Amino acid sequence: MTLAEYAAARSTHPQALRSEYVQLFRDSTAAPLAPVTRCEEHEGVVKFCLDVGSGLETESVIIPMDSYRGSKWHTLCVSTQVGCRMGCTFCETGRMGLMRNLTIEEIVTQRIVARRLRHQRTSLPTRPYSYFRDGIRNVVFMGMGEPFDNFDNLVGAIRVLNEPNGLAIPLTQMTVSTVGRIDGLQQLADIVRREPSWANLRIALSLNASNDAVRTQIMPINKSAPLAELQRALLDYPLARRGLYLIEYVMLAGVNDSVEDADAVADWCRPLRCVVNLIPYNPQRDAAYATSDDATVFRFLRRLRSHGIFVKRRVTQGRNLMGACGQLGNPELRRPRRTNRAAGEPVDSNPA
Ligand code: SF4
Repeated sequence: MTLAEYAAARSTHPQALRSEYVQLFRDSTAAPLAPVTRCEEHEGVVKFCLDVGSGLETESVIIPMDSYRGSKWHTLCVSTQVGCRMGCTFCETGRMGLMRNLTIEEIVTQRIVARRLRHQRTSLPTRPYSYFRDGIRNVVFMGMGEPFDNFDNLVGAIRVLNEPNGLAIPLTQMTVSTVGRIDGLQQLADIVRREPSWANLRIALSLNASNDAVRTQIMPINKSAPLAELQRALLDYPLARRGLYLIEYVMLAGVNDSVEDADAVADWCRPLRCVVNLIPYNPQRDAAYATSDDATVFRFLRRLRSHGIFVKRRVTQGRNLMGACGQLGNPELRRPRRTNRAAGEPVDSNPA
């Protein structure tokens, strides 16, 4: 909880509890944390899972990053749900179905455990105290789950992560990735209108197709939120003056990676302030898709650039751990799927 909530729960003034609250977040051994059930590392990428009861676990990934200018940092990818009900066909998490929403505490704990793991695995100084000293600069809500499907806990977790007396992670260094829940964008827009600093929160959108037919085939959400409506929702969103949307595009061989697709993606992106992130598909267990080869990815990238679109190719990391984009999820926890799927409905509408 934030300092204000912490004080309210104790029926006292925040100032009276400020130093106690600060200490709670500085000393991650002060509070019992969910046990780490699995932790694997490969080439600097660390994937870890936390026990959240009933045999369920979160999955998070610490990813080393390099800038073109040579600076290095880490990004933490956190989960907001165990599983996901959105049913994107290229995503391991989507194949699990939704098991349950994570609480605010379970989302925030992933950041605190990441700090503990970084300190265990490195000789990073713990003093002077700062969460940035553990080398994790960014938090991205791109792990298991559709963040807007757990909206209240997502917002609550962001408030705690952003709390100046706690982890103090700036909104500019947090990214919420959505599959395109227009209602979630609108709810977030309402918060931005009430609290303008929230415009700094970064938004990523999983696009993954250049037309409605293909997008509906690979992302069931497109039935209820087709491309034109999604573009309208992004145009209406009160993005920060210098803000850019991150448009994620998973490249599936022979499905969405043609030159014509690139032209259509450029047309769709043109009215938006955005950067397109091309993500070569990360293979999954029993995968129905193949990864676009490098030549195809670069041809797509050049084509977008020729249209004046700002585009990058995401460096593939974490595949060996099943920790790369779209690979999170424990297949042993899959829910039975419903057979009569309503148009535009996610594959599993059981509430968490
Ligand atoms: S891509 Fe995201 S929204 Fe789609 S099924 Fe996977 S976790 Fe859910």
